[in-house]
Amino acid sequence: METILSINNISKAYGPIQALKNVSFDVPQGCVFGILGPNGSGKTTLLGILLDVLKADAGNYTWLGNDNPHDARKKIGSLLETPNFYHYLSAMDNLKIAAAIKQHGDEDRLRVLEKVNLLQRKDSKFQTYSLGMKQRLAIASTLLGSPKVLVFDEPTNGLDPAGIAEIRDLIRQLNTEGHTIIMASHLLDEVEKVCTHVAILKKGDLLLSGPVDEVLRSEDQIEISASNVAQLLSLIQTMPGIISAKQQLNTITLSCDAGITPESINSYCTDKGITLSHLLLKKKSLETKFMELTNN
Ligand code: ADP
Repeated sequence: METILSINNISKAYGPIQALKNVSFDVPQGCVFGILGPNGSGKTTLLGILLDVLKADAGNYTWLGNDNPHDARKKIGSLLETPNFYHYLSAMDNLKIAAAIKQHGDEDRLRVLEKVNLLQRKDSKFQTYSLGMKQRLAIASTLLGSPKVLVFDEPTNGLDPAGIAEIRDLIRQLNTEGHTIIMASHLLDEVEKVCTHVAILKKGDLLLSGPVDEVLRSEDQIEISASNVAQLLSLIQTMPGIISAKQQLNTITLSCDAGITPESINSYCTDKGITLSHLLLKKKSLETKFMELTNN
């Protein structure tokens, strides 16, 4: 996959606060890339640097393989904070102002309103819109001029559940239509549902980055027991695919490779002459994994 953004060793401090420490990762073209981390982890600072609103203390980044950030900037639509739309103006008139500020995209207004499913309400006043519609209009304004890349900071913040669902659907749809999307979020659940790739930040450090199904893969554990636990422990350690086996009182907790199932453990033990008295699959939630990653 072609790289649309390459970030190399970016650092940024606000006085004594180190907001970003040597952050590096690549964003492949065509993905929905989530920058995930608790509040204060440096997500907005990173987006600000990438959009040329803030200056990094060290490091650099390259958009679209182009060395001139100002040329590249024109191909990026962004939503860093809630835009100030006029409450008494219609969507069409608000977008006219947005296009005038951007100095392009005026002819695009009907097309972008259709994309965010607001065409039928194009002449209604902004103040009559639901929260989700207001945010969809904000996203429409980022689409003026057909940018290849869209950058959103916490795009569902402050919305009601219906609005959140509308925006998540819209992000997936825009990605299907060919936009690469980079979004910051503090919600693991959101990144899991919407993003294909993720970078996890904690207090300015990059913990992990890569495809969501690799980085956020859940790690299951299997609990087993038998009347002779010591014998079971020495047997199970010989089974291929067992990563670790820890005994606590009368139970053994196993971490296993992806191919290992409770059934395969059961038949392995039975074949070797040990009958299990206890067999339990414990799903480790992604929440637990995320908390472990970002807390300690
Ligand atoms: P996030 O978007 O993940 O919530 P931010 O990038 O907003 O994180 O903030 C990262 C850290 O930098 C936080 O500790 C925050 O308090 C601090 N910070 C952000 N902006 C400023 C600023 N303008 N002046 C001083 N500190 C700031």
